[in-house]
Amino acid sequence: MKKSSSENLDPIDISEQQFDRAVCFIKEIKKGLIPFLKKPKRIQIINFPIEMDDGSVQSIQAYRVIHNKVFGPGKGGIRYHPDVTMEEVVALAKLMTWKCALVNIPFGGAKGGVICNPKTLSESELRRITRRFTSELADNIGPHTDIPAPDLYTNEQTMAWIFDTYDILHPGENNRPVVTGKPVEMGGSYGRHEATGNGVYHITERFLSRALIPLQQSVAGARIVIQGFGNVGSVAAQAFFENGAKVIAVSDSQGGVFNAGGLDLEKLQTFKMEHGTVVGMPDTLTITNEEILELECDILIPAALSNQIHAENADRIKAKLVVEAANCPTTPQADEILADRGIYLLPDIIVNAGGVTVSYFEWVQNQANQQWDIDEVNARLKKRLYSVMDNVFDRWQKFVVGEETPADKEIMEKLNGQKPDFRSMALSIAIERVSKATLMRGIWP
Ligand code: NAD
Repeated sequence: MKKSSSENLDPIDISEQQFDRAVCFIKEIKKGLIPFLKKPKRIQIINFPIEMDDGSVQSIQAYRVIHNKVFGPGKGGIRYHPDVTMEEVVALAKLMTWKCALVNIPFGGAKGGVICNPKTLSESELRRITRRFTSELADNIGPHTDIPAPDLYTNEQTMAWIFDTYDILHPGENNRPVVTGKPVEMGGSYGRHEATGNGVYHITERFLSRALIPLQQSVAGARIVIQGFGNVGSVAAQAFFENGAKVIAVSDSQGGVFNAGGLDLEKLQTFKMEHGTVVGMPDTLTITNEEILELECDILIPAALSNQIHAENADRIKAKLVVEAANCPTTPQADEILADRGIYLLPDIIVNAGGVTVSYFEWVQNQANQQWDIDEVNARLKKRLYSVMDNVFDRWQKFVVGEETPADKEIMEKLNGQKPDFRSMALSIAIERVSKATLMRGIWP
C-alpha cells in the first residue's frame, strides 16, 4: 500500500487527533479529566515461548490493554497478526471505550493483540498460543473484569480455546461470560457471527433514509465495493445484496475481483473456500487492493485493515459514501480531504458497533444461562443500532443548523470554519457520557 511519507500514521496520535477534534463539539468537559480519558488504564506486555509442530521453539509477544473501566469491565477483541503493535492495541482499546459508551452498554474499552502470522501456523500451534496467552492473562480477564472477543484472524474456535483454558483455571464457576463470540454450541449467541456485518448494513440503511445523499435513500440499487472479504466484509456483502444492492467488487489479502454487473456472492463464497482467495473467480476482472478503493461506486466499505484511505489516495476515492466497517481505515488527513470533496463518511465507532452489541447480548444470556432465538437477537440489534445512528445524526444536524454550539469561546475559535462530521459527533457523545459518569461516580478517595 502506498502511503504519504509525510503523513503521521501513529495509531495513538491518530486517536488523539480524533479525540481533540471531538472535544471541540462538547459543551462542558472538566479539563483535568482529558489526560485521564486519553490514556490507557493498564497495558500488559506478555512474552512467552511456544513449541512448534517441528519441535523448534518460537518466542511470542502479546498485549492486552484496558483503556477505561468507568462503565464496567473491559471489552474488546483479540487480533492475531504479524503487524500488531502496542500502539495499535492501545488505540483500538480507546476506540472500544467510546464504542461501548456510544451504544450504551455497560463495558469499558479493551483490546488484545498477538504478534504472529496465523496463515503460517497450524491449528495446534494456534491452540497452544491461545492457551498460553490466556493463562498468562490469568485473572486480568474474567466475566466481570475484562471480556475478550474475536477480531482480525481470530474466530469462534479461538474463543472456545480461551473459554476452555479460563474454565480449567477457575473450576466451579459459571465462566461462560468470560469471552464472547463463542460457538453457539458452547454458549455463543445466535447472530454474533453475522452481527458486525449485518450492523454495517443497518447503519448504512438508516443513514441513507435521512436523505442526505441525493437519489439514494436506501441501499437498493446502490453499487457497493468492499475491501476485505472476511467475517465482516462477506456478511455485509450478503446483507447489502439481499436488500437490493449490487456488490460490484470485493477483495482479500491477495487482491480483488470486479464485475460491473454485480458479483455472484454464493459462487464467490464457494470459490474462496476452495481456493483460499477470491482472486481468479471466473467472470471477474482482477484488481489490486489499491485499485478497489478507487473504483466508481456509490458506497465504499473498507472491511480489512487500518489506514487504507490516506492522504495519497483520498482525492481519488469516487464513492458518494464511505462506510468504515474495519477499525481505523481512514487517516485524519484523508477524513479532511473526503469532507472537502463532499464525500460523507460513517465512522467505525458506529458502523461496526453491531459486533460488540451482540457480544453484550451474549454476555447477558450467559449470566442468565439463557439462549435467545435469532429473531430476538436480530430485532434487538437493529433497534439499538438505529437509535445510535439517529442520535449521531440528530446531533450532527443540530450543529449544522447552528442549534447547538460549544459554550466555550476558545473552542469556538478552534472550530472556526470546520464543519461537523459524523466521527466527531459520535465520539463527542461517547466522550461526554464517559466524562459525566466519571464525575457522577465521584473521584476516589
Ligand atoms: P477477518 O480476519 O475475518 O477478515 C479480514 C479480511 O481482510 C480477510 O478477507 C483478509 O483476506 C482481508 N485482508 C487482510 N489483509 C488485507 C489487505 N492488505 N488488503 C485487503 N484485504 C486484506 O477479520 P474481520 O473480523 O472480518 O475484521 C475485519 C475488520 O473489522 C478489522 O478491522 C476488525 O478490527 C474490524 N471489526 C471486526 C469485528 C468482528 O466482529 N469480527 C467487530 C468490529 C470491528
